[in-house]
Amino acid sequence: MLDRCSECGHKYEIETGFFYGAMYVAYALSVAISVAAFLSTYLLFPETPYWAYIIIVLLSLVGMAPITFRGARLIWINFFSSYKSDAIDKFKKQNNE
Ligand SMILES: [Zn+2]
Repeated sequence: MLDRCSECGHKYEIETGFFYGAMYVAYALSVAISVAAFLSTYLLFPETPYWAYIIIVLLSLVGMAPITFRGARLIWINFFSSYKSDAIDKFKKQNNE
C-alpha cells in the first residue's frame, strides 16, 4: 500500500497500526459474505448436504478476500478521514506544479 495519495498527498496510515482496526470491518464483511453464501445456497438448492455448505462458504470467503481486504481498509479510513475539495490544488501549489 502506498504511503501517501499521489494526487493530494493525503497520508493513509494516520498513526502506527492504524489499519489494525480494519480487521473489525473485515470480520463484519466476512460474516455478511458467509451469511449471503449460506442463504443463497439454502434457497436455491435446498437439498445441499451440510458439508457442501462449509465448502461453499469457505470458497466464497477465499474468493472475496481481495475485495474484503481492500474494502475493509476503505471503510475504515473513511471513518477517520474526510474529503477536502481543495486538497489537490493545495498539494500542487505546495509542490509548485
Ligand atoms: Zn488523494
